[in-house]
Amino acid sequence: SPSISTSDRNNSMGANLANDNDLRVLAEQVNAAVKPWRAAPLVPGAVIASAAQDVSNPADRRQIVGQWQPADSAVVDKALQNAVNAQPAWDRTPAASRAAILEHAATLLEQRMPEYIALCVKEAGKTLPDGVAEVREAVDFLRYYAAQARAQFGAAEKLPGPTGESNELQLHGRGVFVCISPWNFPLAIFLGQVSAALAAGNSVIAKPAEQTNLIGHAAVKLLHEAGIPEGVLQFLPGDGATVGAALTRDPRVAGVAFTGSTDTARAINRALAARDAAIGVLIAETGGQNAFIADSSALPEQLVKDAIGSAFTSAGQRCSAARVLFVQDDIADKVMTMLAGAMDELVIGDPGLLSTDVGPVIDADALKMLEDHAARMASEARLIKQAPIGEAAAHGTFFAPRAWELKSLDQLQKEIFGPALHVVRWKADQLDQVIDAINATGYGLTLGVHSRIDETVDRIAARVKVGNVYVNRNQIGAVVGVQPFGGQGLSGTGPKAGGPHYLPRFATEKTVTVNT
Ligand code: GLU
Repeated sequence: SPSISTSDRNNSMGANLANDNDLRVLAEQVNAAVKPWRAAPLVPGAVIASAAQDVSNPADRRQIVGQWQPADSAVVDKALQNAVNAQPAWDRTPAASRAAILEHAATLLEQRMPEYIALCVKEAGKTLPDGVAEVREAVDFLRYYAAQARAQFGAAEKLPGPTGESNELQLHGRGVFVCISPWNFPLAIFLGQVSAALAAGNSVIAKPAEQTNLIGHAAVKLLHEAGIPEGVLQFLPGDGATVGAALTRDPRVAGVAFTGSTDTARAINRALAARDAAIGVLIAETGGQNAFIADSSALPEQLVKDAIGSAFTSAGQRCSAARVLFVQDDIADKVMTMLAGAMDELVIGDPGLLSTDVGPVIDADALKMLEDHAARMASEARLIKQAPIGEAAAHGTFFAPRAWELKSLDQLQKEIFGPALHVVRWKADQLDQVIDAINATGYGLTLGVHSRIDETVDRIAARVKVGNVYVNRNQIGAVVGVQPFGGQGLSGTGPKAGGPHYLPRFATEKTVTVNT
């Protein structure tokens, strides 16, 4: 089957998997690392009295992989008190010491890759290569933000001034930061947000996605073990309506880092704004309606490989994933025939098997949304291909990857978060219309371009309003520190994760002027 792994690109640091044999050994270690996991709020001094709930495996709902306990409102309140009390001392801790703890956590994570990959496979339905990429990205975030903390927070910046006056600019944590993370990168984005907020001198309350509490719990335990004080980083699982909403309306919260839907980002923004308290900051990474434009100079083989990788890796459950392939008329029939052939080869099934290309979608709600979309497409679009789905998929929330040909982008109103690709033809004189249509969605996350004509590439890259443009390759798997990631418009507030401007947004600036 065609490989859609991005782990080769996703690795800038971390363990080396040089060949298939390494991956086989790792797979055995991952399967041996599976155990019943538990996740409860990590809040010093709080009484956790809530009933435990089962966590099931998305690939086989009959399999219970662990249990978790939600936080109630008393636990939320205790976490906020603890976070307020712990922050000043953490902010006074030298940035180099904070960085050293994050680096230690990165090393521990590398040493324990199999267990964390096992959690990603069993709780989040990640394939093994995705699990490897996930852990590596988490390691990269920890090391990158540690390095940024040393460079940007290590010493106050000396500024010029008249004789007899000294001026300096200091960066400090804002206070209590709430990190609300997504289930699609339950370890990497979770640790990315948390480590950035910690590196900048904030105390942190981490609220994982409801679907991936076990992974979030394991990540927080890791940071505690590495040396983050328990009051400085607390873990608060629970549903968005109780825990998330209680946190974002509380005046003790200085800022929120959020990755998830555009609608939830708006709700958080409203909650922060409505408080009779300091104006809270929101750092949001949200959805996309990501396009991939190919002109007639594109190489069809490479285009199809990259389109499949961009649309179906991680079962299409990436904000960065390609949703609409705009292909120039001249090569469109050939490309769609090849696309259908390649999709026939995809292996959909147990993400714990090395042969699997596409695992399950996260839960029954996600599956229903995709099935509803497929039902609508059946009457409104032409099905190019539905990938074959094996028997392994009988007990999980699986959706066979599909590609449809549409007449225009207008047929898609919202982001379809899963393995669903849409193809639209365009004629040579319509490139500007294509770009305008992409910009008109209001989203602006990733864009793929396949063209051998420099002028076309430059014209597209200059006019399109997106955060990440990828030319003649796939459009997923941004590497920390290499391809800073994040969008604009409906896709997010910025600054980009894994980029040099991320940490300062978690900080407040203080200018100190001394008459000497
Ligand atoms: N950073 C990921 C990528 O480049 C996507 C993150 C997301 O889906 O939120 O593929």
